[in-house]
Amino acid sequence: MKNKQTLVNDNSLKDFNTEEIGDDHLYTGLQTPLRADAFKVSDEEKKEKIALLFEDIMNVIGLDLTDDSLKGTPKRVAKMYIDEIFSGLNPKNKPKIALFDNKYNYNQMLVEKNITFYSNCEHHFVPIIGRAHVAYISSGKVIGISKLNRIVQYYAKRPQVQERLTNQIAEDLKAILQTEDVAVIIDAKHLCVSSRGVKDDTSSTVTTYYGGAFNNAAKIVELQNYLN
Ligand SMILES: [Zn+2]
Repeated sequence: MKNKQTLVNDNSLKDFNTEEIGDDHLYTGLQTPLRADAFKVSDEEKKEKIALLFEDIMNVIGLDLTDDSLKGTPKRVAKMYIDEIFSGLNPKNKPKIALFDNKYNYNQMLVEKNITFYSNCEHHFVPIIGRAHVAYISSGKVIGISKLNRIVQYYAKRPQVQERLTNQIAEDLKAILQTEDVAVIIDAKHLCVSSRGVKDDTSSTVTTYYGGAFNNAAKIVELQNYLN
């Protein structure tokens, strides 16, 4: 096992082979790696292209696409990729956020817990199923509570690794809420771990982000108490 610090510093996985990158869930940075021309093609064009390519995959694995049950699958998969499970790649789908003045002068943590999400592992393209808990302390502005759920869903609807998902949610919340006082905890099951590979169906993965006032033992204990 190579030193993971190396990859953080040089932002490269060139010393790792494909299997290591997948099974160790290594990744290169906070930003989702996107092509410069990622959104120059319309959603409709992308769906047409994906449908053709997915048809190829189905053909190659030996499926008979004249079968009534299978013939609509390429188009269904293409639509699902663009409109649903990978819709969070496109900034145009980012939730519109309005901030409000903190008129109640509520100055304790607000915790939105048990936000169920479905994402997909970027190494295997199989689901990550989990719960996110997000918390913040107002710096003078507050956000509609459902927007916290929507921010989680937006970043979940990308090919992901859990560490990046955690940090992308935290960084966006910090920017929106204009505060460092943000916490994100994610507990998720990865189907690439449970249904294949090491085939461990009982383990789950926990990742955390404690910013500002949350980077404090007493605050972490308080937050954890609300999650029990
Ligand atoms: Zn995976």
